[in-house]
Amino acid sequence: MRYIFITGGVVSSLGKGIVAASLGKLLQARGYRVTIQKFDPYLNVDPGTLNPYEHGEVFVTDDGAETDLDLGHYERFLNISTSRDHNVTTGKIYQTILERERKGEYLGKTVQVIPHVTDEIKRRFTLLAQREPYDIVITELGGTVGDIESLPYIEAARQLHYELGPLRVIFLHLTLIVYLEATRELKTKPTQHSVKELQQAGVQPDILVCRTAYPLSRELRAKIALHTNVPRNAVIQALDVPTIYQVPFQLRKEKLDEVVLRRFRLPVRGEPDLSGWGTFLEKLQNPQATLRIALVGKYVDLHDAYKSIQEALIHAAGWQALAVEIGWIYSGDLTADNLERRLRGYQGIIVAPGFGERGIAGKILAIQYARQEGLPFLGICLGMQMAVVEFARHVLGWAEAHSTEIQPDTPYPVIDLMPEQRTVTAKGGTMRLGAYPCEIKRGTLAWRIYQKPLVYERHRHRYEFNNAYRAAFEEAGLVVSGRYPEKDLVEIVELRGHPFFVGVQFHPEFRSRVEEPHPLFKAFIGAAAQYSSG
Ligand code: GLN
Repeated sequence: MRYIFITGGVVSSLGKGIVAASLGKLLQARGYRVTIQKFDPYLNVDPGTLNPYEHGEVFVTDDGAETDLDLGHYERFLNISTSRDHNVTTGKIYQTILERERKGEYLGKTVQVIPHVTDEIKRRFTLLAQREPYDIVITELGGTVGDIESLPYIEAARQLHYELGPLRVIFLHLTLIVYLEATRELKTKPTQHSVKELQQAGVQPDILVCRTAYPLSRELRAKIALHTNVPRNAVIQALDVPTIYQVPFQLRKEKLDEVVLRRFRLPVRGEPDLSGWGTFLEKLQNPQATLRIALVGKYVDLHDAYKSIQEALIHAAGWQALAVEIGWIYSGDLTADNLERRLRGYQGIIVAPGFGERGIAGKILAIQYARQEGLPFLGICLGMQMAVVEFARHVLGWAEAHSTEIQPDTPYPVIDLMPEQRTVTAKGGTMRLGAYPCEIKRGTLAWRIYQKPLVYERHRHRYEFNNAYRAAFEEAGLVVSGRYPEKDLVEIVELRGHPFFVGVQFHPEFRSRVEEPHPLFKAFIGAAAQYSSG
């Protein structure tokens, strides 16, 4: 079992998650069993209750954990499923320790950052490896080296390196080579300083991955190596690229995988098999046409809030040699007057997941437009719920139909809480979370899309389709084509007679992978392509 720790320096948002996922991909493509986990230094127990503007998307795992969006990259790149143990926060570490302390398990000892917090961190570093026979576990440490809150993690990783030795633990530091516009020069000083910061904490990086807007000369690489004590061949250039899907190839060209394997004294044989990935990239980079998809939601100013949807669209379109241009539409801006103007020219509409009242009216308008114009529509979670509300209001004629999340006293609660949920008051982790089976009804569009009777999809919501109204909907043409058999909950609705109008209570975007795009997104993209040519 071997461990790679990935730290970041100079600035945040350098793409540690993508570097971790790309390195994981290269090692996996050489036949190693690899997994990736993320440690976040903030005090929230998980990002579930964070505003998307704070943190971007909350990624949901099969086992129902609300996690960091980097786990989405790991899953998409490696085509693996992660779990609640793949994302650890300082909040989680302290929660464990404080619970133990209250039970008296520290036997009268003073509980301290060292050794108690660092021991708990180390236990979590090695947890996945104890459960499954991985060859290599990559751990991404969130935050930037030098942050006060990152210190216990770096210390714990240093200790693990000390305990297991340099053949089993290595450090990769991702850093930025700064470009000075005025003098047109690349500057290495911030990198030198961030490595010094690591060294002061007792960690010598084995590998530097240098983000840069311009290629690094041999001299510059030599200079970085000399100042940081990193071998020259382990100073890796990561040039800015137009798509994240190029990064594995780019790091392969720099032989990052070989440098890692040599550090571990593992054999380097042949080439990693990136053929599937290469086929995808080739198609993605040579699109035959561009589709315009409107993404209607509440957090459109921060595209990271809808990261997995964006990626799922790219996977699905890329494999069909199509480019997607996403129109980010704030639902709060849509009115009956500007609707036509704002949505004209799109070949498909997605109404995004979300919580709360703001922007709801605009979502309903967009759905009505898609329904009436025969425009391909995919409603995800709240998007599906609002499709049900729209249909109830404008087809069934129940003008005041709503979800009780938005309007608790509606006379037509077509989306409602289940009775057993009414007493829940805690906010974190109390929704229907994680993978649930969904039975697909034969003869429906959903059946043609999935082509199998049972699928598993991930959930993150409280409210459900109200079965009291089901018969009325089905009679009027909104068909239930997927359900959770055990509790008879509605999971998919679709509109009879419309080329593609599908609402799903779950989040298909969490299960789309680069080399295995999601069938629903593929079908949606296919319908959008049809629409544009039809
Ligand atoms: N707010 C809705 C619910 O809780 C939908 C949630 C979502 O879109 N993820 O049911």
